[in-house]
Amino acid sequence: MSRYSILIDVNKCNGCYNCFLSCRDEYYGNEYPGYSAAQPLNDQFWMQVAEIERGEYPKPKISYIAKPCMHCESAPCIDAAKDGAVYRRDDGIVMIDPVKAKGQEAIVNACPYRVIFWNSELQLPQKCTMCAHRLDEGEKQPRCVESCPTGALVFGDLDDQNSEIAKLSKSLDVESLHPEFGTDSLVKYVGIPKRFVAGEVVFAGKEGECAPGVKVTLTGGGLNLETVTDIFGDFEFERLEKNESYTVAVSVDGYAAKEVSFVMRKDVNLGEVVLDPK
Ligand code: SF4
Ligand code: SF4
Repeated sequence: MSRYSILIDVNKCNGCYNCFLSCRDEYYGNEYPGYSAAQPLNDQFWMQVAEIERGEYPKPKISYIAKPCMHCESAPCIDAAKDGAVYRRDDGIVMIDPVKAKGQEAIVNACPYRVIFWNSELQLPQKCTMCAHRLDEGEKQPRCVESCPTGALVFGDLDDQNSEIAKLSKSLDVESLHPEFGTDSLVKYVGIPKRFVAGEVVFAGKEGECAPGVKVTLTGGGLNLETVTDIFGDFEFERLEKNESYTVAVSVDGYAAKEVSFVMRKDVNLGEVVLDPK
């Protein structure tokens, strides 16, 4: 028995859209009887790439999150379908039957991830099939995974303990995109963006001279992290929790230590942290 999954490493995704394009190439105008009807020209995003902008000038960040169907083990789309029009295969892949699902628009709205799309011409809900037709023909990967140039997408069998995905799932901090949906998704993520704090350490009295190589610590939320400013005096701490209280402390020989406390309601730019001579 297999349990197929895709592990998506957000840290490795550069937003090239190859996964989206290869998915379109595989399905636009192409019918796979028993698996999926042909995708129409517009309004189908079986593999989406969401751009997430965080922080603000002068320290903004952009992350990209690839988003196919999550192939949930507790799938609301299956519950919403009549006549078994959406079903889970023995290998975990959730499929929409392109014949039985005709006319069942309610299936589209049942998905909390919004990854089912209505084909108005065929009157059919459609979504990612994890390229089940390819896998059944002996191909090793879905098209999106095959086309990803950075290794951000890893496909495999979670029940095969020797597979790369099973090993990565054990060694990395994997999570669901929206655990609050409670759908127990098979598709998992690494590095989903959280909150970050950034700042710049400057020596007072030196006309705003930046302070490279200075120790900066962050405490709070059960964390005790340490970093060193770069050659521009910049520092940052990533993957912090929303609404948690944190303190950033800066210290270097010859200058008075400085502390800044804040609540992480949104990404925080502390701006210049000015160190005064002792
Ligand atoms: S992500 Fe949406 S379409 Fe995919 S299995 Fe889950 S509920 Fe169904
Ligand atoms: S192909 Fe890979 S790197 Fe490019 S957008 Fe998709 S997941 Fe990101």
